Amino acid sequence: MSGVNEIRSAFLDYFAKNGHQVVDSSPLVPRNDPTLMFTNAGMVQFKNVFTGMEKRPYSRAATSQKCVRAGGKHNDLDNVGYTARHHTFFEMLGNFSFGDYFKENAIEFAWNLITREFELPVEKLLVTVYHEDDEAFDLWKKIAGLPDSKIIRIPTSDNFWQMGDTGPCGPCSEIFYDHGSHIAGGPPGSADADGDRFIEIWNLVFMQFEQLPGGERINLPRPSIDTGMGLERISAVLQGTHDNYEIDLMRALTGAVEDLTDVTADGPQKASHRVIADHLRASTFLVADGVLPSNEGRGYVLRRIMRRAMRHAQLLGARDPLMHRLVPVLVREMGRAYPEIVRAEALVTETLRLEETRFRKTLERGLSILEAESEGLGDGAKFSGETAFKLYDTFGFPLDLTEDALRARGISVDTAAFDTAMERQRADARASWSGSGEAATDAVWFGIREKVGATEFLGYGTEIAEGSV
Ligand code: ATP
Ligand code: MG
Ligand code: MG
Ligand code: MG
Repeated sequence: MSGVNEIRSAFLDYFAKNGHQVVDSSPLVPRNDPTLMFTNAGMVQFKNVFTGMEKRPYSRAATSQKCVRAGGKHNDLDNVGYTARHHTFFEMLGNFSFGDYFKENAIEFAWNLITREFELPVEKLLVTVYHEDDEAFDLWKKIAGLPDSKIIRIPTSDNFWQMGDTGPCGPCSEIFYDHGSHIAGGPPGSADADGDRFIEIWNLVFMQFEQLPGGERINLPRPSIDTGMGLERISAVLQGTHDNYEIDLMRALTGAVEDLTDVTADGPQKASHRVIADHLRASTFLVADGVLPSNEGRGYVLRRIMRRAMRHAQLLGARDPLMHRLVPVLVREMGRAYPEIVRAEALVTETLRLEETRFRKTLERGLSILEAESEGLGDGAKFSGETAFKLYDTFGFPLDLTEDALRARGISVDTAAFDTAMERQRADARASWSGSGEAATDAVWFGIREKVGATEFLGYGTEIAEGSV
């Protein structure tokens, strides 16, 4: 059984052997792309290479890219702890062709890697193609010898990728692994496809068109390839589990949480262990790439991730700050592949320690209010938006933390009332601001920002163009 570190190397070695330049992961904060909150796919660092605006000394590349999908169009934060296959931070393995090879080679490379090198059993594999992409359908038949029933045509945008409203675009083909009938979920395209039985491991994007501003779509003179495979997902398959959180790397982290809390990671509090392990990775890598917790923008997404984890640490009975004590384990597991977390270890530790110490001052009291105010509420009930706002404003509970806390009981927050309370406070803040005239000091300004800044975070839906794979 190979560990995650060996699997990452095996992927990169395979593509190096096949003429690809191995390129380092780019940072989680995209360079020169203010429209994107975090790097969320391998292709992000190559966007300008695909459009031809930037030239590189190679036409084939392979990477293991650090990705965060929390905030923005791809937001997997709420999946963590609930599905076996989603993280907020994960590594995307990818191979890329910049006008070099195309569909046939891309399918061949992928198929040979997983069936010959990784020796996955063919009968467990199935693929999807975009419903109009007969070429891909035929190639899968020819190269993989798959029967028609295992090449599923998908008519939705899941299998058609676009860089933005205009620019390169094209059909995708995804490879799925069937973990077996003991796990809930249907095949891709079916009504219950959202389960964890058929897991999407690899997405191949065939960039073959250019969408023009007028609506016309033309053929790209030199089509390109962009692929993405989740390292944790392929590792799960290779390690004989359907569950990303059971792989060696994640197990090392949840094991450390067990040691520090004396609560088993396999019992009823499993989700808390997973949230902590996942959010530890996201927090560490974000801080190492220069993001610090704050009340707006990227920093607020980081703060939300950290505080969610901290509530789960509290649920596991940790009396003292816990997160920072896990950092050495993560550095031991991933520091060789990502030396930036070795360099940032002291900063990460201190940032987590400070944030948790600070949040603990209000966490317990906030939780008891949350308990009291939700007492008696049953499945399907709504929690007061006013109270959620008070928790946010006075106790530092990001809205999604409150939502997360209530979700297990089927209670949702009255977000309209939350927004109204927020808006009212902003209006009050504006009124006192305009009244203060010349006398307004920095202290007043920063005080207001502390209070209302969170509404300005760019957390959701502000992205213009982004990587999809
Ligand atoms: P899913 O449908 O399972 O949410 P996706 O279609 O959103 O995945 P892509 O954007 O195609 O994912 O990304 C390429 C690959 O990255 C996926 O095939 C998967 O292996 C992996 N991946 C995507 N999101 C996550 C995540 N949140 N955690 C772990 N791996 C992921
Ligand atoms: Mg997704
Ligand atoms: Mg998908
Ligand atoms: Mg996909």
